[in-house]
Amino acid sequence: MVFDKLVELFLKFPGIGPRQARRFAFFLAGQNEKYIEELINALAQVKSEVRQCLSCYRFFNGAGDKCGICANKNREDIVMVVEKDVDLENIEKSGVYNGKYFVLGGVLSLNNGSESGLRFKNLFEKITANKPEEIIIATSATVEGDNTARYIQKVLEPIRQAQGEPIKITRLGRGLSTGTELEYSDDETISNALKNRK
Ligand SMILES: [Zn+2]
Repeated sequence: MVFDKLVELFLKFPGIGPRQARRFAFFLAGQNEKYIEELINALAQVKSEVRQCLSCYRFFNGAGDKCGICANKNREDIVMVVEKDVDLENIEKSGVYNGKYFVLGGVLSLNNGSESGLRFKNLFEKITANKPEEIIIATSATVEGDNTARYIQKVLEPIRQAQGEPIKITRLGRGLSTGTELEYSDDETISNALKNRK
């Protein structure tokens, strides 16, 4: 029973199928108590110590409503829209970008085009309130990513038109080869994609 419950819980992880979920459950069964205790403590802290930024929606370790990036006044007045937290982390690690972010929460599904769980409304509100100089759309170079990028442009169009001076909306250049995800891109690829944005 416990085993089935573990498998069921692991199946909710992104990208994890039934076989991997069972492997994880077997793995845990084989661990000593110290490991299990560490895991339990870490899991308990996820909700008590990790916060979600109210401005960019990334998860961060710390206090306050805004993360360190959003609170940093030396950051450029540019908002890069990424799919997920790991994309943001990878771009930060590359050190080639000094603007701000917005974490959308995924891509539109091609099956049903469902917006559920995606923060289009929050993005619209943030851009309306902050009016940045530029918005860089950094969704993946996949069919879903392209589709989501078009949808973001559609969502932001009324703001662009309402402005006296239109906000510049760009998309990362295709330095990213087709199908490559930002999460796995190296520093040079990210740097080129940023330079070649249009
Ligand atoms: Zn933030």
